[in-house]
Amino acid sequence: MPRPTANWTLDGLKGVILRHWGYRDFRPLQERAMRASLEGRDSLVVLPTGGGKSLCYQAPAVVRGGTTVVVSPLIALMKDQVDGLQACGVPAIQIDSSQTATERFAYLQDIRDGAVRLVFVSPERLVLTDFQRLLRDIDVRTFAIDEAHCISHWGHDFRPEYREMGRLRELFPAAAVHAYTATATERVRQDIIDQLALRAPEVLVGNFDRPNLTYRVLPRQNQLKQVLEVIERHPEEGGIVYCISRREVDEVSAGLVKQGVKAAAYHAGLSQEQRKQAQDAFIAEESDVVVATVAFGMGIDRSNIRFVLHASMPKSVEHYQQETGRAGRDGLPAECVLLYSGNDPRVWRSIIERSAQEGGAGPDYVAGAVRHLDHMDRYCRGATCRHRALVEYFGQTYEIANCGSCDLCLNDTEEVPDAVVVAQKILSCVARVNQGFGIGHVISVLRGEDTDNVRKRGHDRLSTYGLLKEHSKPGLRDWVYQLIGQGVLLQVGDDYPLLKLNDGSWEVMRGQRPVRLVQLARREKAVKAKAEGVSWEGVDRDLFEALRVLRKRLADEKRVPPYVVFNDTTLREMARVRPSSLERMRAISGVGDTKLREFGQAFLDVVEEHCGGRELGRDQKHGSGRPPAEVKAAPAAAKPNLQREAAYDLFRRGASLDEVARQTGRARSTVLDYLAQYIGDARPKSVAPWVSEEVYQRVLAASRRLETQYLRPIFVALGEKVAYEEIRVVLAHAAVAEVS
Ligand code: ADP
Repeated sequence: MPRPTANWTLDGLKGVILRHWGYRDFRPLQERAMRASLEGRDSLVVLPTGGGKSLCYQAPAVVRGGTTVVVSPLIALMKDQVDGLQACGVPAIQIDSSQTATERFAYLQDIRDGAVRLVFVSPERLVLTDFQRLLRDIDVRTFAIDEAHCISHWGHDFRPEYREMGRLRELFPAAAVHAYTATATERVRQDIIDQLALRAPEVLVGNFDRPNLTYRVLPRQNQLKQVLEVIERHPEEGGIVYCISRREVDEVSAGLVKQGVKAAAYHAGLSQEQRKQAQDAFIAEESDVVVATVAFGMGIDRSNIRFVLHASMPKSVEHYQQETGRAGRDGLPAECVLLYSGNDPRVWRSIIERSAQEGGAGPDYVAGAVRHLDHMDRYCRGATCRHRALVEYFGQTYEIANCGSCDLCLNDTEEVPDAVVVAQKILSCVARVNQGFGIGHVISVLRGEDTDNVRKRGHDRLSTYGLLKEHSKPGLRDWVYQLIGQGVLLQVGDDYPLLKLNDGSWEVMRGQRPVRLVQLARREKAVKAKAEGVSWEGVDRDLFEALRVLRKRLADEKRVPPYVVFNDTTLREMARVRPSSLERMRAISGVGDTKLREFGQAFLDVVEEHCGGRELGRDQKHGSGRPPAEVKAAPAAAKPNLQREAAYDLFRRGASLDEVARQTGRARSTVLDYLAQYIGDARPKSVAPWVSEEVYQRVLAASRRLETQYLRPIFVALGEKVAYEEIRVVLAHAAVAEVS
């Protein structure tokens, strides 16, 4: 029977987290998840990607002592976790088939000696008799099952080998089993509980919203150009471009490489070696962009992915949630853009049908897959806040009226001015055809199409015939989906879904209920700048870049991914606080004892060197790290920014950055942002007050030679002697100089 684990206290747990990870607060539900673990109760913890699931089993493993076994589906994931734990001073190992017999023997001996807190294994290894015997010998009492949805074939990522774990309960009746997943559907959840035979589990389901992500759906017009635009909004930052097919991957990646983007392709048609190379380079931050099919991502633990772009529609909302979930795992703002075409569902449908034929899947599979497609299609065409639509899809409620971080709430889209009238026409038409037809037919009638189907049924004589003939088919389909999304129209039935009315429909028709219809960004419109001001507030960007360079060097030396040294949240905080001593450094979230000892001085030196020659304050106030939702929800442009206007005024008079910082009371980094904006807006003839002519020409030449707009390659090409600030000013100016 599960027994309460030895004494532990909340303070003890917090102490361990602070000492090893340098975190001062729990993320939502972490405390309860850890409590269940420490009390030896089975649990199922459902948190979105980036929600902090790992800590839920890692910290209790340290507090509890003994050995916790973690089952994880991919070797790459295990390795990163083990590296991460070791960097935090937590003894952890993995046992896998890539190890030599000698290595494995040594590891097993370590386990026997009780020298490791966490052992990562694959599900296949877990059920090997020898391994089981070892676990029994050392009396393992705790199992953590990561990515637990892999056990359910209702999930989108079923792995047959996970089914083996159904025997866990029987093999280790006295142990507690804890399952962790980001998959939210009720059915999968229940299936995990059943398959693992969890006993009266503590089920904890987190909030599925990812407030730091900005979602956008844009009509696909010129795919490559649109992909480039997104990439250009994220210079020097990591991103994934998802494509529908291998061919699309090859085309898009070749197009990007031609434009000078460091992009790698990734799909199942490449050799294992090529794929590994693409993945490793991306994790090591040697490449910025990976263009991939859905095959990419499961093993990706890079936490500072700043954008996820779907070059075509994904095949389900579950996939979309998971793929976009890889952005911004560090909690900092990130952007998710989906390029949509009304043809995407058709392309998917033929892929699904073909793979069903080849794989011998039954009609159930096809019907299920098509249902998933429809949901995704509806999401793309919807007029409901994207955050709300996603959260509601996963069965949760969303309280915020305007998220401030999706195309619909940021008004990237164009409102249909007489939405209520248009909606009334559509709904009346559904009523006139006696709620007995599907979308296609209703649209034909509304558009006044002269087809057999329409005539045969006498629908050309209806009063609603041709009522919306000036609108396009795809446009009308968008609106029908938008009405469904707002709950004032229903789509009922599986094979040939019919449009039906409900109470809400009648309220709209009687003019008692408002509706919103939008034209999904059909007009070219500059997408607004990222709402990420808050997370950069007070951060010295040059210092951040310098810290990144150091991080990369240390990571290479240790042969670990950069985020294992420190993640971006921690680096930004360092570049904001600019600590003057190791003690101050220790107060930064993410700096635990081991990392402080190992890396603290090196980072402090860079801060020291950077701030030395500049008028940069030290030991500044801590930021929140993660921008609070309510701050982020108010887009920066909503109210006039007096400081910025004052800065513009000073720039006009040629004031230096330091001068402007002093007069406006803003951080130098913020002032630099203002300057870049000023150059874009006011297009001054020259930027002589901020950059000498000689430096200007060198930066420009390097940018042209390297065919890049990125700061870092230029910085490196110029012998790391020209400040990032100056490079940024030159590029901003060159951009407007070229177009004017
Ligand atoms: P998940 O497995 O749920 O996708 P992770 O466990 O990878 O998420 O955590 C995401 C990021 O959040 C990691 O960088 C992790 O170190 C960080 N993190 C987790 N818990 C906390 C916390 N309490 N405070 C600050 N950062 C945290």
